[in-house]
Amino acid sequence: MRHDTVVIGAGLAGLTAALRLAEEGQQVLLVAKGVGSTHLGGGTIDVLGYHTERVDSPARALASFIQAHPDHPYARVTPPLIAVSLEWFRSRMSEHLYVGGLDRNVLLPTALGVLKPSAMVPESMVFGDAGAGGRFAIVGFRALKDFYPAYLADNLGRAGPVNGRSVSARSVEVRPSLDGQADVGPLGFARRFEEPAFRKAVIAEVEDRLEPGERVGFPAVLGLREAPAVWREIRDTLGTDVFEIPTLPPSVPGIRVFGALRDALRRAGGRIIMGGAVVGARTEGGRVVGVVVEAAARPISHDARWFVLATGGFASGGLVMDSFGVVRETIFGLPVAGVPGPEEERFGAGYLDPHPMSRAGVAVDEQLRPAGREGEALYANLHAAGATLAGAEPWREKSGDGISLATGYAAASAILEEGV
Ligand SMILES: Cc1cc2nc3c(=O)[nH]c(=O)nc-3n(C[C@H](O)[C@H](O)[C@H](O)COP(=O)(O)OP(=O)(O)OC[C@H]3O[C@@H](n4cnc5c(N)ncnc54)[C@H](O)[C@@H]3O)c2cc1C
Repeated sequence: MRHDTVVIGAGLAGLTAALRLAEEGQQVLLVAKGVGSTHLGGGTIDVLGYHTERVDSPARALASFIQAHPDHPYARVTPPLIAVSLEWFRSRMSEHLYVGGLDRNVLLPTALGVLKPSAMVPESMVFGDAGAGGRFAIVGFRALKDFYPAYLADNLGRAGPVNGRSVSARSVEVRPSLDGQADVGPLGFARRFEEPAFRKAVIAEVEDRLEPGERVGFPAVLGLREAPAVWREIRDTLGTDVFEIPTLPPSVPGIRVFGALRDALRRAGGRIIMGGAVVGARTEGGRVVGVVVEAAARPISHDARWFVLATGGFASGGLVMDSFGVVRETIFGLPVAGVPGPEEERFGAGYLDPHPMSRAGVAVDEQLRPAGREGEALYANLHAAGATLAGAEPWREKSGDGISLATGYAAASAILEEGV
C-alpha cells in the first residue's frame, strides 16, 4: 500500500508529525523499532530552561537564544510556531490537562530534588512549582525503587530561597499493602492507584501526617489512563495542593503522553507499525521512493510521497558513533553536522558540563529537509524532526521536548504546504 507520508520514529517528534498529517486527511504510516524518549523523560514540555542563565520566560528569551545559536533547530522554526505547537499539543492531550506556555517557566522538582524549568506541564504537576517558595511534604513508598523522598526533600530544601521566597521540604514515607511484593516499579504503582481501595489506603496513611499549609508531592505514579481523576480525588480528599514528581525511568507521565498521541493517531486513521526497524531506503532522482523495514519473512518497502525522519539522536539509535568518533545517520546515511574535529573536545568532564558531541546531527533547510554543505536539500520529499537534528544541547538547555514538538509540527506543516 502506498501512503501519503511515512513517519519513522514514535517519539514526540514522530507522533506529532504523524498525528498532524493524519488529522489533515493524509494516509499516514508511522513505523518505529520501539518506543522513544517519552518513556524516559518526565512528560513535561521543556522549551528553553537555560540560555546564558536560567530562563524565566521562554517567550522573552527565545529571540536572543536563536540569534546566539543560528544552527539550532529553533532557528528553523519561529517562536510563534513554537507557541502554536504547544497549543496543538495541549488540545491533543485533552483529558490529561496540560497547563502553561511560553510566557513563564515553572520550576518543578526532579526525582533528585533539583529544580527544573519547564514551559508546559501536566496539571497534576503544577503545584510542585517552587518558583513562589512554599512548604513541601514529599511522599515516598518503601517499595518504589529509585525514588527517595528524604534525599529529594533534603535537596529541595537546599534549593531555597527561590526568587527571594523560602522553600522547605520534608519527607513522609508510607507502606501501603502490596500483597507481599517487595519491589514494585512506577508502572505497577500507577496501575494500583487506579484501584479505589489502594488509593484509600494511601490517603489514610498520608493525611494524618500532614501539617497545615503543606503542598504534597507524590512520585508521578498516580494512575495511567485514569490519572486526572486519580489526582483530583487525592487532592480533594487530602484538601490540599497535591502534585506529581517525575520518577526515574520508566516515566508514567511520558507513557500517558505516548498513549494519548498514539490513540489519537489511530482515531485519525493513521497506521502504526511498532517493532519495525527501518534498515534502508530506496531513492530515485533526488527523491525518496520508499523505506525498507525488516520483517519476519523478508524486508518490506513502504512507499510514499513524503517521509519524515524522526529517529532521535544517540539515545534512540537515529545517530551512532563508532570508536573513531565517526558519527553516522543510520537510515539514509545523511551527512552529520556539528561533529567536533579530531583535535576538539567531544565530551566535557562533568555530567552537566558542555558536551560538544551532543550538537551533532542532521542539518536542515528552512523546510526541515536534510541539507548538504551548501544548505541544499538532499531529497525533495524528506523532512527531519526532533533529536536527530543538529545544533542543540537539550540536556543543558532543557529544550529536548520543545524541539521535538515544534519541529515535528513544522515538518508536517511543510509537507501540508507542498501538498496543496
Ligand atoms: C532519560 C531521558 C530524560 C530526558 N529528560 C529530558 C528533560 O527533562 N527535558 C528535556 O527537554 N528533554 C529531556 N530528554 C530529551 C527528550 O526527551 C528528547 O530530546 C526528545 O523526546 C526526543 O524525541 P524524538 O521524537 O526526537 O526522538 P526519540 O524520542 O528518541 O524517538 C526516536 C524514535 O525513533 C525510533 N527509531 C530509531 N531508529 C529507528 C529505525 N532505524 N527504524 C525505526 N525506528 C527507529 C525509536 O524507536 C523511537 O521510536 C530526556 C531524554 C532521556 C532519554
